[in-house]
Amino acid sequence: METKIVRIIDTTEYGNKLEEAAAIILRGGLVVFPTETVYGLGGNALLDGAAKSIYAAKGRPSDNPLIIHVAHPEDADKYAHTSELYYALAKAFMPGPLTVIMPKRECIPKSVTGGLDSVAVRCPSHPIAHALIDACGVPIAAPSANISGRPSPTSAKYVEEDMTGRVDMIIDGGECEIGLESTIVKIEGNSLTLLRPGAITYDALCCVCENVQIAPAVLNQLAENEKPLSPGMKYRHYAPNASFVLIDGDENAALEFFKNEQKNGSAVLCYDEELSSLDPSLSISIGARDDLGAQAKRLFSALREADKLGAHTIYAHLPNLDGLGLALYNRMIRAAAHTIKKI
Ligand code: AMP
Ligand code: MG
Repeated sequence: METKIVRIIDTTEYGNKLEEAAAIILRGGLVVFPTETVYGLGGNALLDGAAKSIYAAKGRPSDNPLIIHVAHPEDADKYAHTSELYYALAKAFMPGPLTVIMPKRECIPKSVTGGLDSVAVRCPSHPIAHALIDACGVPIAAPSANISGRPSPTSAKYVEEDMTGRVDMIIDGGECEIGLESTIVKIEGNSLTLLRPGAITYDALCCVCENVQIAPAVLNQLAENEKPLSPGMKYRHYAPNASFVLIDGDENAALEFFKNEQKNGSAVLCYDEELSSLDPSLSISIGARDDLGAQAKRLFSALREADKLGAHTIYAHLPNLDGLGLALYNRMIRAAAHTIKKI
């Protein structure tokens, strides 16, 4: 398949570039588009066949459901059984990086929801994503636009690495602002279960809902034979090709450990402040030590770039769990297949 690449430099000016993209989606084709979280691999969420094409393009298991993207929070009513709690969340966080799981309506094919009776709905704030969904007039089903298991793409060059020849069009809208996938919550009556942490933090959710539980799989490995609350939890994810190991311990001791391991050819994801003490040819910074926003934005590209250094092992600090740290921790323990070394 030939993949057309469309670059939109000024995100306030699309001209008619999105009309062609919308036509592709409406006829059942696939378009990769930027969002504020990561790039999405989009297809028509009302077409059974589109979901199947998405799974095939990603190499994703078809029991791992897709998020549907809507242009306006109230559009969710057409596809899901919404509630007062949904509208409270929408008022606080939409459009933005929050996905809400609710019972689905008939019009959403089961191929989109991996056979489940619930559907995940998100209303992105990125102007290109918003305009594309609006131009389509249908919800867009979109997982992250990476080959299944690889780090999610945060800029079009990484999309091109994974998706050229697999999709009809890639819209390049520059670098994604947040860099980690959306926060996912499931509504159950008046309570929320946090299934995937993201830029909408646990504390922010608690300001809207009194009862927010963190699903155990957010922090821990699923036990063998344990049924995950969200099918995606059971798959290895975000992983570089090299072994990835997280270092849990005093930061100075970790820096000494990194220096030693670099003598053996290992690569390190470090903080800006550590760069001058490390081997520059084997170090990639994910941002300043206290700037979790920068770390979130850079994590996935750093994992891809670290792989290109050719090292057999990549080391990084185990993040703290506060605020956005919970989302970083969740992605990093998955990328590391839960390999944590205490020092
Ligand atoms: P991605 O498409 O890569 O951003 O991943 C979407 C995540 O949402 C996956 O981990 C899915 O398992 C999860 N998800 C989507 N729909 C549902 C649903 N109906 N119930 C539970 N989890 C869901
Ligand atoms: Mg993904």
